[in-house]
This record gives sequence, structure tokens and C-alpha cells, in this order.
Amino acid sequence: MAEIRGTVVIDLVKILRSQPERARQVLPAHHHELLEPGKRVSQVRWMPLNDCAELMRAAAQLVPTPTGEDVLEAMGGTAANIHLRGEVFSGVLKQGDPLATLERGAMIWSEHQRPGRMHVESQGPTSARLVLEGWDPEQDEFCRSMTGFLRGLLTLAEVRGAEVRMAHCHAHGDNQCSWEDKWAD
Ligand SMILES: [Zn+2]
Repeated sequence: MAEIRGTVVIDLVKILRSQPERARQVLPAHHHELLEPGKRVSQVRWMPLNDCAELMRAAAQLVPTPTGEDVLEAMGGTAANIHLRGEVFSGVLKQGDPLATLERGAMIWSEHQRPGRMHVESQGPTSARLVLEGWDPEQDEFCRSMTGFLRGLLTLAEVRGAEVRMAHCHAHGDNQCSWEDKWAD
């Protein structure tokens, strides 16, 4: 069963705690203890993806809805901006080199999500496919946020004209999850 590290959960809890009254209305009751300011969320603890998806759905109702953009993709983009600028993930970015950046990103997938392995398939000079095998989500929220995260990853690596779209998802009945990545030459 798909699980996620606390690093992702902490981001969601921050959003929910910023509007506790509204959060109580949209978050299932069994998660309300996370809204208590004194309740610590461990970065290293694993959480079932289904629980995390409940937090994502609630948090998505609290953040401003971007015009014409999927709110979960936007949340993934925000997460990329927070984490890839920090010390822990700064080594993932290889400026101006989309393929190396994606390969470095794929290497750290298993540290933060399980099960599954991610690898990159080059599709030519300006495109690549990111393939995730063994990841078995029942819902697509996290994968939609990954689309935004990957777009943010390429943009932060100063890749021009980065475009990312989800091509397959286990939650949609496909046997793997994958993302098409394109960029300007
Ligand atoms: Zn998926």
C-alpha cells in the first residue's frame, strides 16, 4: 500500500493549521488532532497515502484556486519552491540540464514515497518520460501534485519552456504512473 513520508504531511498540516476553523469543517474528524498546535508531526514517519489524500483534499479547499490550473498541481509547485530551495534537496537541481535534474529527482523518490521506483527515459533532445513502477495509489491526488512538483523542479533548474503532463496513473487503471516532460531546446 502506498505510503508517504512526514515531510509531505508537514506541508499540508501547515496549510490546515493556518485556517483551523475552516479546516475543521473540511477535514475528516479522525485527523482533527493534527490541527492542535502542540501536536508534532514527525518528518520520518510514514503515513498511508489514503490518509494523506484526505489531508490534500482538505488543504486544497483552503488555498486560493489558481485560474485555469489544477489546485493540486499548484500545491505541488509550491512544495517544489519550498523544498528545492532548501538544503536537503538543493543537490537535485542541475542548472540548465533537464535530463540530469529529472534523473536526480527520480533517485530520491524512494526516500519519500514507497513502494515504487522511478526512472527517466529520454525521448530525444527536448523531452523525457518519467516512469514510476510499483507505486500503487488508489486516488490520483498525489500524482496530480507531482505534475506541479516536476514542473517546478524543471523551472527551478532554469529549464526554459518546461511542460509536464501526467501520461499514466495507476489510480486511473494504468499499470504504472508516468509523466511526459518537454522543454525548449
Ligand atoms: Zn499516479
